[in-house]
Amino acid sequence: MTSIAQALQQAREQLQHSDSAQLDAEVLLMHVLGKPRSHLHAWPEAPLDTGQLNRFTALVEARRKGQPVAYLTGQREFWSLPLEVSEHTLIPRPDTELLVEQTLALLPADKPLQVLDAGTGSGAIALALAHERPHWQIFASDRSPECLVVARHNATRLGLGNIHFFTGHWCDAVADQCLDALVSNPPYIAEQDPHLVEGDVRFEPRSALSAGMDGLDDLEQLAAAAMRVLKPAGRILLEHGFEQAKEVCNLLKDNGLSEISSFRDLAGHERVSHARKTT
Ligand code: GLN
Repeated sequence: MTSIAQALQQAREQLQHSDSAQLDAEVLLMHVLGKPRSHLHAWPEAPLDTGQLNRFTALVEARRKGQPVAYLTGQREFWSLPLEVSEHTLIPRPDTELLVEQTLALLPADKPLQVLDAGTGSGAIALALAHERPHWQIFASDRSPECLVVARHNATRLGLGNIHFFTGHWCDAVADQCLDALVSNPPYIAEQDPHLVEGDVRFEPRSALSAGMDGLDDLEQLAAAAMRVLKPAGRILLEHGFEQAKEVCNLLKDNGLSEISSFRDLAGHERVSHARKTT
């Protein structure tokens, strides 16, 4: 019989190349047992049954081969909301919480605003905004039907009724001057960036990560759409790479937007840029 403590010990040894071996092992075992972390620490001697041990062993092996933990468990927390993810969606990053934070800070909470999350993926940004602002009407687009299945499922599970999902590329299906805010975490990594073939990132959909030679193709399209889809005084907030703030601010300016500013993430990098339609 293998106990919880023994299973974790074996998994840690197998995952020793990963700098999160202990955490990965615990998250995978919590997933197999359907129990919180406290259970693992309270019952280290408790035996795993054969089915549990086989499932855990298979997951640890898949992790050892590089599969991201979030794809193995089908879950990742974002903005303290447990979200379903799949290999069709980007795995939500803590960095993106900055985009949510700034959107909440810049827009009035109690007005019935209309806000679009363009390229929603698992729905992370849209769900966080819908959760925090029940008076807002959130729209969420994605051109991937597989992503929209995941995002809709997340909204249903979280009981969030103030989101409308639709298939479409960025703002293509959006009417003129109907949004108080356009927010997005588009792909922004340069095509040749070696980061794309390393670590967890190599398992994520390339279409959600990279955008042209300099990574700016989709940011450019979003900046170009802003004047059309935003209401007067509407705002755009875009996540971008840690060295792209200057280029993104220029794109916003060149497309006729004003009140341009950038915000820093927890690592001190300018990660989100904002602009407003004032003319
Ligand atoms: N920030 C992510 C990364 O560097 C990429 C997310 C994105 O391209 N929008 O892995």
